[in-house]
Amino acid sequence: MPERAIGAGREKAEKKVRIMLDAGHAGTRWNKGAEEGYYESAVVWALQEKLAAELERRGFAVGKTRKSIGEKMDVVARGKAAKGYDFLLSLHTNSASDKKVRRVACIYQVPDDRGGFAEVSREAADNLSPAIADAMGIPPDPGSALRWKNYDRLASSDRDGDGRKNDNYYGILHGARLVGVPAVIAEHSFHSNPETCRWLMEEENLGKLAAAEADALTVFFGVTPPKETTYRVRKGDTPEKIARLFGITPEALIAANIRKHPSMTIDYIRTGWVLVIPPAAEFVPFKVRVTARAGLNVRTGPGLSFSKRGALSCGARTTVREEKNGWGRILWKKEPGWISLEYVKRID
Ligand SMILES: [Zn+2]
Repeated sequence: MPERAIGAGREKAEKKVRIMLDAGHAGTRWNKGAEEGYYESAVVWALQEKLAAELERRGFAVGKTRKSIGEKMDVVARGKAAKGYDFLLSLHTNSASDKKVRRVACIYQVPDDRGGFAEVSREAADNLSPAIADAMGIPPDPGSALRWKNYDRLASSDRDGDGRKNDNYYGILHGARLVGVPAVIAEHSFHSNPETCRWLMEEENLGKLAAAEADALTVFFGVTPPKETTYRVRKGDTPEKIARLFGITPEALIAANIRKHPSMTIDYIRTGWVLVIPPAAEFVPFKVRVTARAGLNVRTGPGLSFSKRGALSCGARTTVREEKNGWGRILWKKEPGWISLEYVKRID
């Protein structure tokens, strides 16, 4: 009996809450803001990277709909990419003709009788918006006096063809609904407001915002953050060496310690520092299709220097089970092989 009880508890603790993140738009220069140099696509990508690290530190498993800032992906497909996840969060900043508008908005899914996900979506939105508005220091709206306002939007057509007009207007919320996943679009105020742009262009502010959102989701999903492991830096250590020791990336190690040690870089670390070791990210496998016309080499390791084991033809499908420096580990003829992820497209 005691063994069974312990085993059951451990199993429960290991099942992580899975969050799929979606940076709203592709490219580095999409949706120019009111302040010179502001682009929505770049800011929400940077926010996504910080939010992923903050969520992983708190014990979530995190996925991303797109592999790189330049990758384009249809909005409905991005919603469907959340299949098997507990929640999808799409990150945006909004635009309005009135430059003064600053309020935060989360768009949740329309009411649905296919399970409880629409209610989860609405409640998650109601937890996220005040956290975002507080972190961003949003003042009351000049018109409505509101700091945030959430809403849903019904599609005018029957998108899923079930004879009922009860579908979501927004493609990403529609796609997530098709796979039964609660989803929210978060509008981090308006990039038509110069002050909002300036605030979001500060790296440190994005870090604060990511931490506030991760905290809100931690409370909402009832996640217990893992106890933090620490490590005292020894002579001859480098961030890379320490990261390898704990099975994490040097970037994740730096992200977890940069606030306490602002001078830490990939090349600079000081003997005697006590570093926080973030938990290793749980990798969620995903399916891809080869897009390179000439086919794609399968190599023995993650890089061009590794020898060729064979090739996948254009259009071939496979599952990526691990990611390293833009390369994916697959099973090729029942043996592990590596392919460049530049020449594949994610499918579901
Ligand atoms: Zn957007």
